[in-house]
Amino acid sequence: MRLPGKKAPRRVRYCREEPHSGPMPAVWVRFYGELNDFMRPERRGRRFLHTLRGPSSVKDTIETLGVPHPEVDVIIVNGTAVDFGYLLRDGDRVAVYPAFRSVDLGGVLRVGEPLPDPVRFVLDIHLQKLASLLRLAGFDAVVLDEDAVIARAGGQDGRVVLTRDRELLKRNEVRWGYWVRSTDPPRQFLELVRRFALAPHARPFTRCLACNAPLRPVTKESVIDRLPPRTRAEFDDFHLCEACGRIYWRGSHYQRLVRFLEKSLQR
Ligand SMILES: [Zn+2]
Repeated sequence: MRLPGKKAPRRVRYCREEPHSGPMPAVWVRFYGELNDFMRPERRGRRFLHTLRGPSSVKDTIETLGVPHPEVDVIIVNGTAVDFGYLLRDGDRVAVYPAFRSVDLGGVLRVGEPLPDPVRFVLDIHLQKLASLLRLAGFDAVVLDEDAVIARAGGQDGRVVLTRDRELLKRNEVRWGYWVRSTDPPRQFLELVRRFALAPHARPFTRCLACNAPLRPVTKESVIDRLPPRTRAEFDDFHLCEACGRIYWRGSHYQRLVRFLEKSLQR
């Protein structure tokens, strides 16, 4: 308590679970698992005190601390699961969990929504190469370049937003989303395979890498006029994208792509 005429006390760094008695309401917060990727090093894997600046929902507080809401699956306050609208009170103890796909949470209230089935993606424009890898594995992956349009696709259109922009994921319309950690496309692809348990749903070589439309098998005769002479001589199986007209065959890159998919999708 401040006494009249006394100097303000030095700021105390709360590093233990001491009873909170500051002048402003504050809550204890701890993030679990991969949500720590959003935390400053000194906050990773530990409980820390967060001062509230007025009435705050648990969702706003989690996002103020740097974690976009689509990354969160379960929120426990004082031992009870709550939804995003819960209004925090002085002294609350908040534990925030990511989606653990392999864990059965029974009847615990989850703020994360069940994934669209089949899972479909919308990618931020800077993730073009990742989109091609998703299409290679057969996943529906559109690329858009305007935040409002991407967010809408991640809400009403039922797509999972993939981006390296955390602020985009914090938009209210986004229902499903994931902040892509790596900057290397093959590693990014592996992140998604693990995060969304993609392996059993892969349908390799069924989608156009350029435009995302499904491919269909066509006879050699129907496309022969458009094939380079060596391809015409060496290959017999062809697929066509009816949306953009590209023709696919098992050319020189095929074996390399097969190896990449086998390695990435192994369970
Ligand atoms: Zn196409």
